[in-house]
Amino acid sequence: MPKRNTWSRRNWTRAAISAARKSSTLCHDWCGGAESQQERKKAEMVSRHASCRCGSLAATVTGAPVSVHACSCLACQRDSGSAFTYTAFFPESAVAAIEGDHRKWRRIADSGRWTDSFFCPTCGATVFRRWEALPGVFGVPVGCFADPSFVPPAKLYFSSQRHSWLAVPESVEAVDTQ
Ligand SMILES: [Zn+2]
Ligand SMILES: [Zn+2]
Repeated sequence: MPKRNTWSRRNWTRAAISAARKSSTLCHDWCGGAESQQERKKAEMVSRHASCRCGSLAATVTGAPVSVHACSCLACQRDSGSAFTYTAFFPESAVAAIEGDHRKWRRIADSGRWTDSFFCPTCGATVFRRWEALPGVFGVPVGCFADPSFVPPAKLYFSSQRHSWLAVPESVEAVDTQ
C-alpha cells in the first residue's frame, strides 16, 4: 500500500509539472516574457490603412495611436453627419503614405484656431485632419479604418451636447465640454 501511494503521488507531480510547462505564466518565467515583448513589438510595427468610401484617397499609418477620442459637439455632428466624431491621433512621423487626390477645408473654431479636414474630391469623405492647436499631430476618423475592433475612445468631449439616446459606457470618460 505505501508503495502505491508513493507512486501515485509521483505520478500526480509529473502531470502537474507537465501542465505547468504548458502554461504561459511559466513560459514567461523561463523565457523572460519574450513572447509578450514580441507581441508588443508587433503592435508597434502594425500598419493601418484608412480610406474614403470610394477608395481614391487613402492614408497609411504605422504603430498604435497616441490617443483616441470622440466628440459630440454640434460642429462635430455637422462634420460627421452623425452623432459624434471618433478620431485616432497619431504623430505625424507615423504617417507612412498618403495616396490620392484630396482637398482641404479649414474650419475656424470659437478659439480662433483652425482645423484642416482633408477629404476626397470624388466621394467627399474626410480621411485625415490637422489642427493648429496640435502641431505634429495627424488625426484619422476611426471609421475610415473600417475596423470594428479598433481602440475605443478614452473620452467623449462635449457630452453635454450629445444625443439623448447615446449612453456613454463606463470605460469612456464623458467630459461636459472640452
Ligand atoms: Zn473617395
Ligand atoms: Zn467636436
